[in-house]
Amino acid sequence: MGIRMSEHHSTASASPAAASPAPLIDIGINLAHDSYDADRDAVITRAGAAGVTQMVVTGSTLAGSARAAALARAHPGRLFATAGVHPHHATELTAARSAELEALARQPEVVAVGECGLDYFRNFSPHDVQQHAFHRQLELAARIGKPVFLHQRAAHADFVAILREHAAAWRGVAHCFTGSAEELACYLELGLAIGITGWICDERRGSHLAALMPQIPPQRLLLETDGPYLLPRDLRPRPASRRNEPAYLPHVAAAVARARGETAEALALSSTTAARALFHLPP
Ligand SMILES: [Zn+2]
Repeated sequence: MGIRMSEHHSTASASPAAASPAPLIDIGINLAHDSYDADRDAVITRAGAAGVTQMVVTGSTLAGSARAAALARAHPGRLFATAGVHPHHATELTAARSAELEALARQPEVVAVGECGLDYFRNFSPHDVQQHAFHRQLELAARIGKPVFLHQRAAHADFVAILREHAAAWRGVAHCFTGSAEELACYLELGLAIGITGWICDERRGSHLAALMPQIPPQRLLLETDGPYLLPRDLRPRPASRRNEPAYLPHVAAAVARARGETAEALALSSTTAARALFHLPP
């Protein structure tokens, strides 16, 4: 999501959640975030123990994308990265720095361009600057032939209009989908995959999502924690740090599987196949 975390994180984490019955891929984890600096290797180990065998590390600034790519290089076959500039940071994508982003995005361990998009909810950057940065990143993705990792909040109409300006159909994912049935139908029509986070576990804000889950074709449904953000609200016991991490992805997967009326294993198999297909990940 790109909300800033203000809590201080204790490094003594987290009783492990239940392990997944089949391998899972966390397609949106901000593992370069400084809240993981003290125990990043332990976080990766706990993810593996929970069945989360591969992760796509989100890049949301130029510096953060470079850190995400470095993490992916250090864990080949297990971690991958995106390279992009989040709409909150759109002002940093100047013409001069666009070449820097392109060089990063062309790295082999970088599997998508983003996160990019529009965020009119927090408005940390002016709308015209956000739109400009979004256009540049969509052009980049088309130029280098990689999928897009998309962020949209409170900006659906402009977001879709810009996507349609560039192409009628997209290879990419609408990450952290929290929208309506109409927005979902629109994304599916654009060809996008849908990233579902622990937002679905939030009984105040996410209860509408359960009814939408059966509408997502299995080959378009991806799972993500968006850690350290979006700790599932119904996770028990609740870690004192309130930091989310990839080891909790099976908890999100269980909620999605329940909402779809399918087994956790079936969802793990389909979402992992879908993630590998979209990002061209090795088995
Ligand atoms: Zn986001």
